Amino acid sequence: MVKINDPTEKEEEEKKDWTHAYAEDLRADIYTEVNPSPKATVHQREWRKILNGDPVEINPSVGAGLKVMTINEWSSRWKQNDRFPDCLACQSVSTKEHHFTQTWCRGKRQFESELLCSDCHMFSWRSYSDPDFMLPEEYDKIRWEKMVEAKATGKPIVRDSAKAHA
Ligand SMILES: [Zn+2]
Repeated sequence: MVKINDPTEKEEEEKKDWTHAYAEDLRADIYTEVNPSPKATVHQREWRKILNGDPVEINPSVGAGLKVMTINEWSSRWKQNDRFPDCLACQSVSTKEHHFTQTWCRGKRQFESELLCSDCHMFSWRSYSDPDFMLPEEYDKIRWEKMVEAKATGKPIVRDSAKAHA
């Protein structure tokens, strides 16, 4: 049977703002850390250079080569995360996000965010995983193992797509 969606329902779905959907209706606690240097691998080397007063690479969109920069100059192109604007060390909202990832797998999600505070220069890390979150590759691996197992025991293989329409 083909399910025909109510057009108004579909419209609602399309109008939904997904900007902060990764952090809505959370089902577990957000893991946090405060660090004097980035926890995310990205920018770790540059951060050390900035603190040492060594030149760092100029953003390719504004120029080329290396330059000694202040923290503010170096981070000037980063944007605030308006869902998580506050510094976990000093509560300032003068923050900029330098690292953000979100992963969705079958309606479950995982995200990571790290901010640099312009006031205290500490890094605020936040990460989250839905309790039974699996990465797409983990999900595929388990599904594959189940299929192999079912085949070995002679059970009929029920495909996911068939199950979804049952
Ligand atoms: Zn701060």
